[in-house]
Amino acid sequence: MSAPEVTRFAPSPSGYLHLGHAYSALFAARQAGKGGRFLLRIEDIDLARVRPEYEAAIFEDLAWLGLTWETPLRRQSDCLADYAQALARLEARGLVYPCFCTRKEIAAEIAHAGAAPHGPAEQVYPGTCRRLNRAERDRRQDAGAAYALRLDMNHACGEAETEHGGPLTWHDRGRGTQVCDPRALGDVVLARKDVATSYHLSVVVDDAAQGVTLVTRGEDLFEFSHVHRLLQQLLGLPVPDYHHHRLITDDKGARLAKRADALAIRALREAGHSAGEVIAMTGLEP
Ligand code: GLU
Repeated sequence: MSAPEVTRFAPSPSGYLHLGHAYSALFAARQAGKGGRFLLRIEDIDLARVRPEYEAAIFEDLAWLGLTWETPLRRQSDCLADYAQALARLEARGLVYPCFCTRKEIAAEIAHAGAAPHGPAEQVYPGTCRRLNRAERDRRQDAGAAYALRLDMNHACGEAETEHGGPLTWHDRGRGTQVCDPRALGDVVLARKDVATSYHLSVVVDDAAQGVTLVTRGEDLFEFSHVHRLLQQLLGLPVPDYHHHRLITDDKGARLAKRADALAIRALREAGHSAGEVIAMTGLEP
């Protein structure tokens, strides 16, 4: 019997939960183990896409699956002060810089540098605004230009490794101990132009604030755990264990997206399936 854990399920209320979410939520709840705690977090910083009815549907669908979670739950839009505080610590260490680039400019810069049009390089920021001098940064900020804040990845890794006395590591329950190397992801965004935080910053702050001991999530997010381990080091936060689980795919082998309406939990329910049947469809024991 494994030790009790604190786990969480962290959906975004930007669509209805589908079979993949059911698997992820059940996986997290079951990993908490006997005597453990299963928490819920509403990741609602993407203000343009979240809707209150999707949040209500999350509660309804999870309850229908037989899940219970501790209250109060954590809702990211209520925690902006926590993210601001973390950001201020990283800024004070000189690890963050303003980025004025638009998506279009970033794409053009990458194309100009001759990178392949598809693949991970597509998302890696080429560092344009990192090279701006102080006067130019001030001029743009004073002129009211919108900007995101990015982590100076190389600098941040160097600082963290020096502080730690060697390479950082993190542990994945499925794949074993990992040497932390987020450099390939480039200067990730810590605060977006439209909201003063980002997925990476919020998740790290939240997992620490909620006392999560085991982060469970889909294997599509595996690489991001390198970034999260780095941020934990820089912010002096505890390091949880990780378990990245398989993804549920449709009958063509494609990853389910929120628009996979036919496999939405509520659609399956309305089609007459029982909760036990839906759980069985995820491949888990009912
Ligand atoms: N909110 C993220 C998602 O919907 C999951 C975040 C996480 O588990 O780190 O995929």
